[in-house]
Amino acid sequence: MIKGLIFWDWTGTLADESALDHAVCQAMEEAIAHQKQLSRQEATQLFQAYLRQLEGTWPWHDYLLHARHFNLDWRQPQEKNLHLLRLLPGTEEVLRKAKSLGYLNILATNAVRAVIELRLQKAGIKDLLDDIITSDQVEALKSSGRHFLVGLQKWSVPPAQALSVGDNPIQDILSAQQVGLKTVYAVFGENLTHYHSPHISANHRQRVQADFQIHSLLEIIPILASENILKEAVHE
Ligand SMILES: [Mg+2]
Repeated sequence: MIKGLIFWDWTGTLADESALDHAVCQAMEEAIAHQKQLSRQEATQLFQAYLRQLEGTWPWHDYLLHARHFNLDWRQPQEKNLHLLRLLPGTEEVLRKAKSLGYLNILATNAVRAVIELRLQKAGIKDLLDDIITSDQVEALKSSGRHFLVGLQKWSVPPAQALSVGDNPIQDILSAQQVGLKTVYAVFGENLTHYHSPHISANHRQRVQADFQIHSLLEIIPILASENILKEAVHE
């Protein structure tokens, strides 16, 4: 019997990718400099200007697209820096606990599939996830609510029986509320941003009224264990 769905955000909620993404972007800028015979600074400016045009759209998160645009190999900078990926304390434990309580763990991310697959493989937690919904799959950012709608439909679960857990008020909380989900705001993700995005992470600081707030991942366990958090399961 399914107790409910949990839509877990990835960056800033289950993982700290700031060092990894920083290194990947640096590597791409170096490759651009080499290929176009530019100074490192010129290459950085070129890459940043390119990214700025994609701000506020899901392709901003698509490293494969960025690599294609500059005629680079997307995989090499990712693989070379995977050792910088860090799971946040408690990630494995909360995913395991959620499963044992009868929830399905759905990873809902603005990342694209090829990149998140590499990272999950490295992190060794793929077997704890029942589904992965990416921005290239739904062709939208999480702020649109599409990730949630697609997951609810796929698993035939009503919104009232699902939870969104995330660190971004716009991407993870307001969007989920609009679809009718319960929400858990991960306060601790506030400072874990992408190195090239501080100017667009202002929505991190937007005030939001979630159903629950957690200051560490482990704080979610009693919330998940509560009998009343979601209505009783409606199907086997
Ligand atoms: Mg996040």
